[in-house]
Amino acid sequence: MVLGKQEVLAELLTKELKPYVKKIDQDAFYAENFLRRLGEAGLLSSGDRSQSEVVSDGLYLVRETAEICMTTAFCLWCHLAALTYVRTTENERLKADLLPSLEDGSLLGATGLSNPMKHYAGLENLHLKAKRTPGGYLVSGVLPAVSNLGRDHVFGAIAGLNDQQQIMMVISCDSPGLTFKEKTDYLGLNGSATFSCSLREVFIAEDRILSEEADAFVANIRPTFIAYQIPLGLGVTDASVRSIEKTANRQNGCNQYLPVQAPELQRKRTELEYQLLSLISKESVDWKEVARIRLSAAYLTLESVQADMLHNGSSAYQRASAPARRLREAYFFANLTPTIKHLEKVLI
Ligand SMILES: Cc1cc2nc3c(=O)[nH]c(=O)nc-3n(C[C@H](O)[C@H](O)[C@H](O)COP(=O)(O)OP(=O)(O)OC[C@H]3O[C@@H](n4cnc5c(N)ncnc54)[C@H](O)[C@@H]3O)c2cc1C
Repeated sequence: MVLGKQEVLAELLTKELKPYVKKIDQDAFYAENFLRRLGEAGLLSSGDRSQSEVVSDGLYLVRETAEICMTTAFCLWCHLAALTYVRTTENERLKADLLPSLEDGSLLGATGLSNPMKHYAGLENLHLKAKRTPGGYLVSGVLPAVSNLGRDHVFGAIAGLNDQQQIMMVISCDSPGLTFKEKTDYLGLNGSATFSCSLREVFIAEDRILSEEADAFVANIRPTFIAYQIPLGLGVTDASVRSIEKTANRQNGCNQYLPVQAPELQRKRTELEYQLLSLISKESVDWKEVARIRLSAAYLTLESVQADMLHNGSSAYQRASAPARRLREAYFFANLTPTIKHLEKVLI
């Protein structure tokens, strides 16, 4: 990301995110304003830049945000996933309708693709079903968790039309037949505006269809979908490393005897970022290579937050401490689709 934009982001992080981190973690506060400001400041715009430039800027945004608050970085990931769907679709009408407002932050996007991703990996049946109706489709079923939602937001979803064909669409949260139940009883991530979504014959017009061949469309967006998740872990690792470094002189330097130290975590994290940036600069990306980095990032994040807890000792064991927040957030990263178990299965 060019220098001027990095400075704008740094200012937004300081003013619009840092003051709210405790509230996000403890009171399920959703930092919607921060996300909208990123768009208003032009940080989500693709313009006429190449795909790899757009993706590498997105990676930077997610990593910098995750270093301060992974919950909000996850909401940003949800929005970037929705943006990826709209940027990739061949439905030019949908693109013209939604892309400008998703990029300027006036419309926020989300994604309900965990279940289809698990379906395509042979883990689950599809939760949503679609049937043809004049002018579009009627979609029914339940998605147990979709984050970054609000009354005027949209989310991407996939429904099965029959055993062979699935369609992918953008659903508006104010659609008739759609009901939500807020979920705020998680170990962490409660400020992620997460809801279970129940759809009862929700009408999806043809101009909201991203693809009528969702399996091919998913193969197309999968590398970017997974790549954008990796900096969630890198940002949390960065914050853990800084936190570990700050404790070096406590108790006459006793932490030096702990087996996991900051330089080793830093080295692993830099190596993963290097691999990721090299990969996305290629013409075509094998999604399994991205998935391998994603898996390593999940393990590294768990290792980093655990080390941070050990280096910080009992101050980290306070319910509202930053290392404890990161520990809880890291377990979400491990269980975000594709989860560690899902990745281990597809990467054998
Ligand atoms: C905070 C949060 C936000 C999320 N946001 C999104 C999102 O924006 N979009 C999206 O598509 N997905 C979202 N997810 C889902 C997420 O990406 C993963 O799919 C999910 O966490 C992975 O769970 P799993 O693979 O272990 O399987 P699960 O879906 O948890 O299910 C595995 C098995 O456990 C059972 N099970 C699940 N929950 C319980 C329970 N509480 N008690 C007993 N049995 C249970 C299920 O029936 C199933 O048989 C979110 C999840 C969380 C926790």
